[in-house]
Amino acid sequence: MSINREVLNAEIQRLKKEKGAVILAHNYQIPDIQNVADYLGDSLELSRISAKLVEKLIIFCGVKFMAETAKILSPQKRIILPVLEAGCPLADTIEPEEVEELKKKHPGAWVVSYVNTAASVKALSDVCCTSSNAIQVVRGIPAKKVIFVPDKNLGWWVKKNVPEKEIIVWQGFCYVHEQFTLKDLEEAKKNFPEAEVLAHPECRSEILEKADYVVSTAGMLKRAKESGAKVFIIGTEEALVYRLQKENPQKEFYSLGTARTCINMKKTTLNELHRALSHEIYEIELDEQIIKQAKTALERMVEYI
Ligand code: SF4
Repeated sequence: MSINREVLNAEIQRLKKEKGAVILAHNYQIPDIQNVADYLGDSLELSRISAKLVEKLIIFCGVKFMAETAKILSPQKRIILPVLEAGCPLADTIEPEEVEELKKKHPGAWVVSYVNTAASVKALSDVCCTSSNAIQVVRGIPAKKVIFVPDKNLGWWVKKNVPEKEIIVWQGFCYVHEQFTLKDLEEAKKNFPEAEVLAHPECRSEILEKADYVVSTAGMLKRAKESGAKVFIIGTEEALVYRLQKENPQKEFYSLGTARTCINMKKTTLNELHRALSHEIYEIELDEQIIKQAKTALERMVEYI
C-alpha cells in the first residue's frame, strides 16, 4: 500500500468516525473504494441499507441515479455523491418528457422502469424493477400492455420470458455491457470450455441466449458461491470480477472478452471520497413531490415479486 493511500485511508476512517458517516460503495467501484466501504452491493441493495441505518450522513460511492434512489428511500438523511459528474449514460437515455409522450401514445399501459433511471423518470412510472426481478414484476402487474424503460437488452429478456404481454421497449442501453460480443463469448468458451457463463441482462440479446445464467450482480455473487463449477466467465463490469475473485479465492473468474469498464463508476477515487467527507459535498436534493411519487413506484415493486 502506498503511503499516500495509507494516509488517505486513515484520514477517511477518522472523518467517518468524527462525523458519524457511513460509506456505501457499488460493486463496480475501484478496489480502493471497495476496500474502505462499510457496505458493498448493487444500487437497490445499498439504498435499502441506507434506509435502515441509524446514521444520518451517507456517502454513496456510485453514480447519480443510485444516490437519488437512496435519497428517495431515506429522504430524512443527507446523501452525498462524491463526484457530481458521475452519471449513468443508460439512465440518461430517457427524459421525463419522453415518458409522458409514451404514456399518451399508449393509454392504459403501465410504465415499468428499471432502477437505472433518474428520480424524475421513476416519479412518472407505475412501478420500478431491478435486473433480478424485472421478469416477475412485469408478469405480476395487472396491466396487459407495458412500457419498459430504459434498457433494450433487459427489455428483450423480459419480453422473451413474458410472451403473454405486449411490451413496448425503450431503446436505451448500457455502453459497458453492450460492448461484449458473441465473438468474445465464443473465444472465452474456447479458452475455458469447462467454465460457467454468467451474463448480466444488460448484455446483448445474443449473449443472453447463450449464457448459462442470466443474472444480476447480486445473482452472480450468489451463483459463484453455490455452483460446483471452478471457472466462470463473467459478462459484466470488470470490478465485479475483482469482488468475485476476492470472495471465492479457490475459484477462477474471467471477464467475457476484454475487461469492460464503466468510466463514471471509476471517477470516485480515495481523494474524491476524502473531499466528499471533509466538505460534505455533493448533497443530493430532490423535489418533495418527486420523492413521494418515485417512492411509491419503488415500494410497489415488492407487491409483485
Ligand atoms: S455500468 Fe452501465 S448501467 Fe451501470 S452505471 Fe455504468 S453505464 Fe450505467
